[in-house]
Amino acid sequence: MRSLIRPRIVVVAGMLLLAAVGASQLFGSARADVKPTAARNLVLGSQGSAQPQNMEQFLTGVTQDVDAYWMKVFKESGLPEPRVSYAWIPEGQTAASACDDGSGAMGDSAAAYCPGDDTIYISEKFATDIYNGTLDSALPGSSQGYGRTYGDFAVAYIVAHEYGHQIQKELGVFDQGLPTMAFELQADCYAGSWAKSAYDDDRLEDGDIQEALDAALAVGDFDTSAPGHHGTPEQREEAWTAGFEAGDPSACSSYLDV
Ligand SMILES: [Zn+2]
Repeated sequence: MRSLIRPRIVVVAGMLLLAAVGASQLFGSARADVKPTAARNLVLGSQGSAQPQNMEQFLTGVTQDVDAYWMKVFKESGLPEPRVSYAWIPEGQTAASACDDGSGAMGDSAAAYCPGDDTIYISEKFATDIYNGTLDSALPGSSQGYGRTYGDFAVAYIVAHEYGHQIQKELGVFDQGLPTMAFELQADCYAGSWAKSAYDDDRLEDGDIQEALDAALAVGDFDTSAPGHHGTPEQREEAWTAGFEAGDPSACSSYLDV
C-alpha cells in the first residue's frame, strides 16, 4: 500500500495495477449499470461537471465528495484534515487488508473500513449489486420486509457510512470501548449529515433520500444480543434521519451515550 502522505486520498497501489491490466473487462458490467441516464442520480461535484461512468468512478466520486464535506467540518473545528485510503475491489479480486476476516483479504462482499490500515474497502460487485437491487433480498432487514437496496444513493449511503468510521478513528472514538451498535448508528448519522450537505447544494435528485432511508432499513439486523449487532432497521433509519435533519455531525455524538 502506498503511504498516506500525498495526495490526501490515495488509491491502493495494487488496485491501480489491476485497473491498468484489465480495466475494460473488470469494469464492463458496472459501467453499463451505472451510466447516469436517469434523473435520480446524485450530482457529484458542481452542477454540469463530468459525472461518473462506471462504479469505480462513482465510488471515488462519492468518497471525494464525503471527504470534502469532512475536510470543511474539521477545518471549522480547528482539526487537521482527515485522511483515508480507499480500495475498490474489482469483481472476482481480493485486496490484502490488515483487518482479518480469516484470510486477511477483502473480496466480493466487502464494504468495510479497516482501522488497522486506515482504508475503506468496497467491492465493486457488492456496490453494483446494491445499485441494481440484486442484493435486495439478501440483507438482514430487507429479507424481513424492511426497506430495500436500490439506486445510486443507496451506494452513496454505504460509502458515507464507511467514511464515518474513518472519522471515528480520527476522533479517537474507537478507543472508548463502546458496543458496536454505538459506532454503527453514529456512522449512519454521519452519513445523513453528509447527505444534508449535498441536499443543501441542490445536488440530490428525486428519490435519493428514499434510497438512503430504504438502504438503512435494509442493512439493519435483528441480532440484538450479538456483539456485532449494528442496530435494527428502525434504529438505522432513525440515525440517518437524525443526521440529515440536524445537518450537523455533532448531533451524532448522542449515539455514543450508551
Ligand atoms: Zn459500519
